[in-house]
Amino acid sequence: MGNFVGYQCSVCGKTFDRDYKGYTCDSCGGNLNVILDYEKIKQTVTPEKIFSSSEKSLWRYLPLLPVEDPGFEGTALHSAGFTPVYKSDKLAQKIGVGKLWIKDEGRNPTASFKDRASSILIARAKEIGAETICTASTGNAGAALAGMAAASQWKAIIFAPKTAPQAKIAQLLVFGAQVILVDGNYDSAFDLSVEACEKYGWYCRNTGYNAFTAEGKKTAAFEIWEQVLSKNASDKPLNIFVSVGDGNIISGIHKGFKDLHELGWLPVMPRIFGVQSEKSAAIFNAWAAHTETITPVSATTIADSISVDLPRDGVRAVRAATETNGAYIAIPDEAIYEGISELGKVGVFAEPAGATAFAGMKKAVAMGIIGQEDDALVVNTGSGLKDVRSAMIAAGQAPVIAPTMEALEAFINKK
Ligand SMILES: *Cc1c(COP(=O)(O)O)cnc(C)c1O
Ligand SMILES: [Zn+2]
Repeated sequence: MGNFVGYQCSVCGKTFDRDYKGYTCDSCGGNLNVILDYEKIKQTVTPEKIFSSSEKSLWRYLPLLPVEDPGFEGTALHSAGFTPVYKSDKLAQKIGVGKLWIKDEGRNPTASFKDRASSILIARAKEIGAETICTASTGNAGAALAGMAAASQWKAIIFAPKTAPQAKIAQLLVFGAQVILVDGNYDSAFDLSVEACEKYGWYCRNTGYNAFTAEGKKTAAFEIWEQVLSKNASDKPLNIFVSVGDGNIISGIHKGFKDLHELGWLPVMPRIFGVQSEKSAAIFNAWAAHTETITPVSATTIADSISVDLPRDGVRAVRAATETNGAYIAIPDEAIYEGISELGKVGVFAEPAGATAFAGMKKAVAMGIIGQEDDALVVNTGSGLKDVRSAMIAAGQAPVIAPTMEALEAFINKK
């Protein structure tokens, strides 16, 4: 925890030293920001030194993290992050933006963005001597924690809604976590897990509750800085699109860019755009009403990873857009299926929540918020293999024919 100084409440500003045992602010309940010693970081590391690291995971940014390297080299835990960024000129042209990049978080060890948070959380658990880590999850956070726990032989307990996609539940079980499916939604799993952690003394990883998840997720911002910004100098801000449920990914990405800004390593702050389904739009609603007060909704979107009634990181999520001159965009669920199909055609297999960000980018172009002269980056937060049912709805069915040339010819002639 070398560069970790303490916490500051994102709502009331109260500060806490690094030995503080709570998860959120004990005065107002706000989410805590992790404070780093930027002067010390500046003295010990430079961007060049980071860029020349041979570590091909998020651990290449260790000097900017509030944890020590937990070890476990050569395991899934030590290979989270440093996901590829693809450039698609064809798609950029079709949609009407300048350059277009897609960062594929489906390439993480358990196939979603959540691996970033979970690997950092295991490191933190090791430092504070927490034997059991517990999380509530719509599926991916649990799969990530279960996978990282398996890689490090840690003990993980996962609460998820019983309606989570089968592939995600299969991951939880295969990784050998203690899985408890809740006959309710994500929000009810969240509340139950917090109570259980208090009662049994488990370390709680919950998204938008434990301050360290955003510290893991911020590493995606470091990668965008290294992989895209450092190689494509521009006076204009990059427009980054990310889907939003609890609001922790977008807050984490914002934190990462703020760290870089604080260090004087970021020439132009990107604009950050949050995308939600119209059917799970609590943070969009707050942003549109110019308030930081988050009013719960009754979420019904098919994008299960962002189906959240009461977002747990809403205040910081609103700020990620307002403080970077970004915006929130709400899209209908039909646009998500279209997004899966369009991303697929450039070789990216997205789960619904990942395609949501892409659909939001398209809508931003249609609304005139960005255009030809603006560069954009879409974060695909999870692999399409996570939710094959939605993929099949997006893609349609393949024809079935008899295994004969006659049948094939009849089929070809019919087309
Ligand atoms: C968790 C998740 C999100 C949303 O992240 P929040 O921090 O809840 O806003 C988006 N996409 C995928 C695939 C996820 O697993
Ligand atoms: Zn507070």
